[in-house]
Amino acid sequence: MEKADVVVIGAGPAGTSAAYFLAKQGIEVILVDKSTFPREKTCGDGIGPRSIEMLVKMELGGWLLSGSYYRCDRVRLFANNGRYVEAKIPGDDAPYPHFYIVPRADFDQKIVEAAAGAGAKVLTNCRATSPVKNGALKGVKVVKDGGETEISCKALVCADGTNGTFAKSTGINIIKPHAIAARAYYSNVKGLDDCINIYVDEHIPEGYAWIFPTGETRANIGLGVSGPMMKKYGIDIKKLVSWFVAEKNASPVDLKGAVQDSEIKGAWLRMGYGRHSAVADGILLAGDAAGMISPLTGEGIAYALESGEIAANAMKTALDKGDISANSLKAYQEYLNKNYYMDHRFYEAIRQTLSKNPIMDRFIGKGIKHPPLAHKFISIMMSTAKPTALFSPKMLRYILF
Ligand SMILES: Cc1cc2nc3c(=O)[nH]c(=O)nc-3n(C[C@H](O)[C@H](O)[C@H](O)COP(=O)(O)OP(=O)(O)OC[C@H]3O[C@@H](n4cnc5c(N)ncnc54)[C@H](O)[C@@H]3O)c2cc1C
Repeated sequence: MEKADVVVIGAGPAGTSAAYFLAKQGIEVILVDKSTFPREKTCGDGIGPRSIEMLVKMELGGWLLSGSYYRCDRVRLFANNGRYVEAKIPGDDAPYPHFYIVPRADFDQKIVEAAAGAGAKVLTNCRATSPVKNGALKGVKVVKDGGETEISCKALVCADGTNGTFAKSTGINIIKPHAIAARAYYSNVKGLDDCINIYVDEHIPEGYAWIFPTGETRANIGLGVSGPMMKKYGIDIKKLVSWFVAEKNASPVDLKGAVQDSEIKGAWLRMGYGRHSAVADGILLAGDAAGMISPLTGEGIAYALESGEIAANAMKTALDKGDISANSLKAYQEYLNKNYYMDHRFYEAIRQTLSKNPIMDRFIGKGIKHPPLAHKFISIMMSTAKPTALFSPKMLRYILF
């Protein structure tokens, strides 16, 4: 039987980060994933300033900044009426004011390698099915290469993503994801530059569409809407992507003649940290499993990487104390509550207010008139400024007058 101090379930950004930072602190870690790598993951592939900072911490800065992937330095944010504001990323001070577009097959392969390089043992094609308990946590049941077996461990970090089912088996009352997004890759896209393009549109309720360039003429194009809006309007998310590419005037990007060169794929997003616990006896949830996706933009990679590191540090402290009970691990939840909970509530409030199209049209008009307002908003979207920065007296003056 395999044995480790900690088993991390899921080798996406949250799990690899947890495994990396645990292994770096001398903890014996096994990182398991049901897939084999490289594997595709439905995503916009956008790596913003906070993700870049985390990758640098994980010694992947050289790889990312080496120039192999498309880099954007500006954002264009379009209103429903076609007007747009443009601002540099991130608008405020941040060490890496860029946005890279890295296909997740490459990205996740690289972060798995980083975790392995730090000393984590990686088991792929290995699906975790349930925790093993005998009073306290003793290990985890897995199906590896088709055969059921057990890994003995003292603690678990569950980072099985939005669609993972393991988190539910921990006894934590996981809530349903409440947004859905889809994307595909398109070639022969004209007018791409060093800008990411974000479109608010009346056909995309409580959401937006994006065009993220992956090359001079190729882009990851997709959109997301809230779950309630999808139900209310009977939206077929994949058809909506096709509509956007065929019908939208995305100027200055020109989508006429764009050629779809991958299947349109959709996936759910579990957004808005704080809707359920992230801690059980011997277990921490990180990344999408803990609902860490930004309810304003759908950005989840930075939050997954960050929560992975925070979980690793909390787990190390608990292991050093010899107490991995939920009570001892609650420092993790307290840290997340202090540093993420209110931000996510503000992100949600901002999204719900601005998603009403006449309001967004007016807001973008104000951003065109007052560039500092546009810069501040782009910083908030990039998660490099606190959402409350929008409510400073100076910003409120720009919004109101
Ligand atoms: C269409 C779309 C576009 C998006 N665009 C962006 C973007 O541009 N930028 C951004 O920052 N975020 C984006 N996101 C969000 C981002 O994809 C997620 O927030 C991020 O991947 C979360 O990382 P994670 O490690 O928590 O989960 P995941 O990346 O989902 O990783 C979970 C891993 O767990 C494994 N797993 C699941 N169950 C088990 C099990 N039982 N046993 C073993 N392994 C298991 C899976 O195979 C997977 O590898 C997007 C999401 C969607 C749906």
